[in-house]
This record gives sequence, C-alpha cells and structure tokens, in this order.
Amino acid sequence: MSDAEGSAAVSMDLGQDHAEIRDAVRKICDRFPGTYWHRLDAESAYPTEFVAALTESGFLGVLIPEEYGGSGLPLRAATVVLEEIHAAGCNAAACHAQMYIMGALLRHGSVEQKRRYLPKIASGELRLQAFGVTEPTTGSDTTQLKTRAVRDGAFYVVTGQKIWTSRALHSDLMLLLARTTPVESVRRRTEGLSLFLVDMREAKGNGMEIRKIDAMINHGTTEVFFDQLRVPAANLIGKEGSGFRYVLDGMNAERTLIASECLGDARWFIRKASAYAGERVVFGRPIGQNQGVQFPIARAHCEAEAAELMIRKAAALFDAGQDCGAAANMAKLLAADASWHAGEAAMQTFGGFAFAREYEVERKWRETRLYQIAPISTNLILAYVAQHVLGMPRSY
Ligand SMILES: Cc1cc2nc3c(=O)[nH]c(=O)nc-3n(C[C@H](O)[C@H](O)[C@H](O)COP(=O)(O)OP(=O)(O)OC[C@H]3O[C@@H](n4cnc5c(N)ncnc54)[C@H](O)[C@@H]3O)c2cc1C
Repeated sequence: MSDAEGSAAVSMDLGQDHAEIRDAVRKICDRFPGTYWHRLDAESAYPTEFVAALTESGFLGVLIPEEYGGSGLPLRAATVVLEEIHAAGCNAAACHAQMYIMGALLRHGSVEQKRRYLPKIASGELRLQAFGVTEPTTGSDTTQLKTRAVRDGAFYVVTGQKIWTSRALHSDLMLLLARTTPVESVRRRTEGLSLFLVDMREAKGNGMEIRKIDAMINHGTTEVFFDQLRVPAANLIGKEGSGFRYVLDGMNAERTLIASECLGDARWFIRKASAYAGERVVFGRPIGQNQGVQFPIARAHCEAEAAELMIRKAAALFDAGQDCGAAANMAKLLAADASWHAGEAAMQTFGGFAFAREYEVERKWRETRLYQIAPISTNLILAYVAQHVLGMPRSY
C-alpha cells in the first residue's frame, strides 16, 4: 500500500449526535425510574405523567415545522429522542405516534387543516396519537381492509372495525384509513382507500366504540368499532382514493423512529447485562468471566452498533429528501433483531433473577418482542427487500 493510500482521508458523515437533546431527554427520564414503569405495568395504566413531561418539553413536536409551533428539527433529532427514552428503561410507545402521525397531515392536508390542527398538536393541546389501519380479518394485507366510508352530502359514513389501534383511549384525534371505492371497482387495489382525521371526542358514543385489549405488554392498545359514524367531508386528508399512498409516505419515518426505540432497548439490555455479569459471582468468579456469558452480550453490542449505522443512513436520506425506503426497512429489521438478541442475552445473564419483576429485564424483554411483529412484521420487511432491493418476484 502506498503512503497516499494509507493516509487517504475517510469521508464518513454519520449525522449529528444531538448531545444536548440526549442530555435533556435523559434528565426527563431520570424522573421516571423502573419502579414507575413497573407499577403502571402491573396496573395496566397509561403513563400520563411521563407523556405530560415529554409534551411540556416540546420533544413530541420536534418534527412539526416552526411556523406551526413545533421545533422543525430533522428526523435524526427525533430518532435520538426515542433512542434515549428507551435506553433509559422508559417506553415511548405511549406517545411516539404524536411525533409522526401528523406527517400525513403535514404533507397532504389542506392549508386550513394544517392551520387548524398542527399548532395544537405541537403544543399537546390536541393529542393525535391513534392510527387506525390494521383490521382483524385482513392483517398485513392492508389494501383488503373492510372498513367503508361512504359519502353522504357533507359527511362520510364510516362502518367497520379496526384492531390494535394503540392509544385510542388517550387521543383526541385518529388518523383512519378506510375504503371509499370498493376494491372491485378500482384498477389497482392500492387505489380507493382514503385517509380521515376523526375527532374521537365527538365520535365516541356517536357511532364509534373503543374496547381495550388485554395484551402481553402495557401498550394501551384497543379495538375500535364504527357503526354509521358520520365524519365531516372536511376531515378527508388530501384526495379521496389516495389514502394508501399517504400512509406509505409516512412509513419510512415511522420505521426509522421505531428502529431507534429498538436501538435504545438494545443499549439498555447490554448495559444492564454487562454490569450484572461483572457483579454476579458464581463458582468463585464473576459470571461475565465465562465466554458463554460474555459472548452473547458482545455479539448483541456488535449488532446494535451496525443497526445504529443503518438508522443514521435512513435518517440522513430522509432528511435530504431522498428515497430511504430500503434503508428505513433494513434499519427497522436490524434494530429489532439487535434488541431482541440483547434482550435474550440479558434474560440469560440474569438467570432466575430475570424473572423477578423488580429487575425490569422481563418487562423490557416483553416490550421489545413486539418489534418483530409491529408496526411491520419481520417477514414483510424481508419480502420488501427481496422484491424492491434485490429484484426478486413479489411473494405476497
Ligand atoms: C401491541 C400492538 C400495537 C399495535 N398498534 C397498532 C396501531 O396503533 N395501529 C395499527 O393500525 N396497527 C397496530 N398494530 C398492528 C400491527 O401493525 C400488526 O399486528 C402487524 O402489522 C401484523 O399484522 P397481523 O397482526 O394482522 O398479522 P398477520 O398479517 O395475520 O400475519 C401473521 C404472521 O404471518 C406472517 N405473514 C403474513 N403474510 C405473510 C407473507 N405473505 N409472507 C410471509 N409471512 C407472512 C406475518 O409476518 C406474521 O408473522 C399493533 C399490533 C400490536 C401487537
């Protein structure tokens, strides 16, 4: 190798680290220790105080432009917020949607809708936390969803059912995807779906009913039933029939942000497991002195570092206005795997104590398992990569 090659400058822009944001988020999280989450988990209760603290700090409005009262920061800044929350042992699922669901409104809403809703979403006066896409009978096959919205004068009449609509009991508004043109009457099944902003304060008891699902994690997730709910036509987002495209538009940001939560979880598991492995003495030496204990933790760390690079890449492409579909999907897959493997390593390292709820390991382990399935399952990401990145035939 020549000297010139050996000393060649390496250009690698990993994106900003936003140390000041990390620091501020950490300070908020310090006020919500494991005992807080442990109690909520046992009571299946919503972290009202935590969400209020994040709302007051303005962190939930980081992606809303300044002209609408938000901070107008790039996606990279939002990824850092969610990563830190999860690395601190907290869980952002109770409010993360407030950060990104509004993207559909921001990109496709009318000027009137944006002026009316975005400043109040930025201040937290209005909670836009619920996103109704998934349905019980059609699952991942979104374009087959059965909820219908039929135009009737100045209203749409909505009938159908959503499932796993998280935070519906803690939100004022819901972004709802419903079919406005029957699937038999459209050229492509992605057409004929429309996106609505439903004011749940008015809808509850007037054609909309919400039932909480008793779930494996404390996620405030629900089933929502629509029976002739009248939604003002003024609440249609963008053009009738284009809703599926608007939802897809927002998914890259969502995947990159959820990947950051996974990364935070992985960091938490790795930190806890390494510390415990150094302290716990069995057979006269720390368990972490055994390679069988240290290697899974070290491997999880390698995976988390790699996932972080993909998250940074996805955020950089998104913030530059470039296509980030592949990177966002891969970031989500790699980070979800890293957090799951880190969780498994932590469970094994803690041995029997992993089952004692006061250690928090089992709670985080249950919580991080979700990312293999939602908001998109691992198989569907692999199908995307196989088809759109590698050019193989569509498999679904
Ligand atoms: C706690 C929680 C919160 C959620 N929050 C929301 C929310 O707020 N809003 C919302 O709309 N949804 C939400 N979801 C739903 C979530 O997005 C779906 O559960 C997820 O997309 C998978 O859909 P499904 O459960 O219907 O699984 P299915 O589509 O029934 O799939 C079941 C399994 O089969 C696999 N599979 C299906 N088809 C294929 C194929 N062609 N090739 C290979 N594998 C395949 C899947 O990967 C999966 O592992 C939430 C789910 C949970 C559990």
